[in-house]
Amino acid sequence: MVFKAIVKDIKGKVEFDVPLRDFTSISIGGLAKAVVEPVDVEDVRRVIDFSRNEDVPLLFLGNGTNVLIMDEGFPGVVVRVAPNFGKYWVEDGSIVAEAGVSLHELIKVSQNEGLSGLEFAIGIPGSLGGAIWINAGANSHSIGDIVEKVDVITTQDLEYKSFSKNEIGFGYRRTVFQERPDFIWKVYLKLREASLEEIKNNILEFADRRKSQPANLPSAGCIFKNPPGNYAGKLIELAGCKGLRVGGAVVSSEHANFIVNRGDATSTDVLKLIEIIREKVRRDFGVELELEIDIKGRGSRI
Ligand SMILES: Cc1cc2nc3c(=O)[nH]c(=O)nc-3n(C[C@H](O)[C@H](O)[C@H](O)COP(=O)(O)OP(=O)(O)OC[C@H]3O[C@@H](n4cnc5c(N)ncnc54)[C@H](O)[C@@H]3O)c2cc1C
Repeated sequence: MVFKAIVKDIKGKVEFDVPLRDFTSISIGGLAKAVVEPVDVEDVRRVIDFSRNEDVPLLFLGNGTNVLIMDEGFPGVVVRVAPNFGKYWVEDGSIVAEAGVSLHELIKVSQNEGLSGLEFAIGIPGSLGGAIWINAGANSHSIGDIVEKVDVITTQDLEYKSFSKNEIGFGYRRTVFQERPDFIWKVYLKLREASLEEIKNNILEFADRRKSQPANLPSAGCIFKNPPGNYAGKLIELAGCKGLRVGGAVVSSEHANFIVNRGDATSTDVLKLIEIIREKVRRDFGVELELEIDIKGRGSRI
């Protein structure tokens, strides 16, 4: 069996036929053929090499808080980044961190070091790698604002490469990494010195603005991007979608841009609900909602 061959080269943990719902915040996702937890970049290079040689799909997974994985599973190798890529250090007012560090942890570190700039990310449950991939943000701030450069391993030719801020092309929930599936390894963040008092107040203020989100139910965060000059949540609510349900998937009554899993939702339920919401918003406002979540797995085209 082709996937078993991966074990002989990898130093990190390798498991087969693993349910991905255990690794996603919306608790949905069928079996991955293999899940690897690489211990270092050489391990990552080995996995990339394996996937290229055997022609099997590859998925880098951070905290799984922005993905919907199909019930049919992922027909390839999933690389879980977070368990091992957790190093960070402070250098001349900058924080350099590996992709697996959570944003939550980074905010704590920057607060302790008297460095400001990350407070907007309070409450975003992702890893740094996932945040870079989508340029995660909140309240008119985003991670790209404070990035100096990002080191990656390219999947095309297995090279180490640095991307400057400009080369990454940060836009609204957009970066170049969505077009080129490189492994995001290390991120250099430029922060500014500030008093502990100021940083603490910023954190409290940003946390306060997030109170309308359904933080206690499984979800993948906002399903749709905000259309230009508007809010997806507002349009979805005005189109009468709050509380709409397909199977176990429900449009949150707290924040209409969230679909929550009421316990037994399938990816099919979520996809059907997405289509219903899109249709209603299109009909009422002529607006085409674009997905913010990343959909992965067999038959995932939408
Ligand atoms: C309750 C809740 C609230 C949220 N609030 C916000 C918010 O306010 N703002 C916001 O922007 N988002 C929000 N999100 C969404 C999510 O937390 C962010 O998008 C986050 O940045 C995703 O990080 P992750 O590690 O979970 O990425 P994952 O979901 O694991 O992955 C997302 C994408 O990034 C890729 N990726 C991850 N790591 C790497 C890597 N090292 N190298 C290459 N590719 C990688 C994956 O392949 C996938 O395509 C929220 C989610 C939840 C559940």
